[in-house]
Amino acid sequence: MTTSTPKLDVDPLSLPDARGHFGAYGGMYVPETLMTPLFELTEAYHKARKDPEFQKELYHQLREFAGRPTNLYYAERLSQHCGGAKIYLKREDLLHTGAHKINNALGQSLVAKRMGKKRIIAETGAGQHGIATAAICAKLGFECVIYMGEEDMRRQSLNVYRMRLCGADVRGVSAGQKTLKEAVNEAMRDWVTNVRTTHYIIGSALGSHPFPMMVRDFHRVIGEECRRQIMEKEGRLPDEVTACVGGGSNAIGIFFAFLKDYEVRLTGVEAGGREIKPGHHAARFEGGQLGVLQGAKTWILQSPEGQINLTHSVSAGLDYAAVGPEHAYYQEKGRINFGYATDSEALKAFEDLCEIEGIVPALETSHGMAYLMKRAQEMSSDQIIIGNLSGRGDKDVQEAARVLGDDLSH
Ligand SMILES: *Cc1c(COP(=O)(O)O)cnc(C)c1O
Repeated sequence: MTTSTPKLDVDPLSLPDARGHFGAYGGMYVPETLMTPLFELTEAYHKARKDPEFQKELYHQLREFAGRPTNLYYAERLSQHCGGAKIYLKREDLLHTGAHKINNALGQSLVAKRMGKKRIIAETGAGQHGIATAAICAKLGFECVIYMGEEDMRRQSLNVYRMRLCGADVRGVSAGQKTLKEAVNEAMRDWVTNVRTTHYIIGSALGSHPFPMMVRDFHRVIGEECRRQIMEKEGRLPDEVTACVGGGSNAIGIFFAFLKDYEVRLTGVEAGGREIKPGHHAARFEGGQLGVLQGAKTWILQSPEGQINLTHSVSAGLDYAAVGPEHAYYQEKGRINFGYATDSEALKAFEDLCEIEGIVPALETSHGMAYLMKRAQEMSSDQIIIGNLSGRGDKDVQEAARVLGDDLSH
């Protein structure tokens, strides 16, 4: 079986344009007061990106503090279990603080330091972005405030405590559904008020320009390492690369290096929740529409009147109504395919990965793993599929026990 995907008519590196457009998607849909700070940030970032000193410092810290490069691991038993393609896992779960999030938190905080900012704020859903940001703020000596929906604080109480141990001020948000969307609103409000002293580290490839570009660039290291590692181990490119998609940062991070390798199929996996019915899932390409949310034009789950739908996923990190604009662009071009996994499929993959490989994946990651295992079965033994193991599941153990009906008390 050979797969071939449509050729791109632009160089992925030329995107986005100066106003943050990926074709029809992206842009800068923000209040007037934020335009100047966003342009200042864009300029500071472009200067940093070109500065060898900045790159040297970034790669130094990625190695020394974050633990890069991460291994590309041959999952031999999982491959045998599925009985199809050879399965490799990119071990972002082995990074410091437990997920890919640290790549971006580190990169953006180094930009903030160059800009002379003293204070860093962030939103968090699963808590992984919050803990990565809190850890780096401790290390670099920034004041740190993390906004988090109260429902997410309940689901991720251990991560809340970890952030506090690292000196972060974690502020609960009780508006609306009490999850990620409301936390982003609160962080935006803070930023508008304190923009002179404060940098806002967005945790995914979302929001107004320049965030989707910056976040993507700081995660591109995943795919660059992965491409080199598979060439070393197998002497050829994989047939498919797959990743779970919340906002889309771990996915664009691993996909980017393969975008022009047209023989490599790229598949993003969204959260199918309980089922694909409004309010019961977070799969934006299943039943979403083009709209604007929190700074960018992209695929959004909303009512015909433009009210943002409720979303649901067993994993807090995928529970968001909008997808990153760069994914919307490559979906339209046919270069990135999208599928989804339901809560119960993700939980099954979570258990399988624990039992078969001794790896406890994050519930977000488990969505990607559910697709990967199904897909590997359809492929032949001379094919290779790579899954991005975006994070570890330590934070999810209590929630998994609760939904699987296991009692932790004895
Ligand atoms: C946050 C998170 C995600 C979802 O975010 P993306 O920006 O889509 O990568 C996925 N996996 C893990 C482990 C996470 O912490």
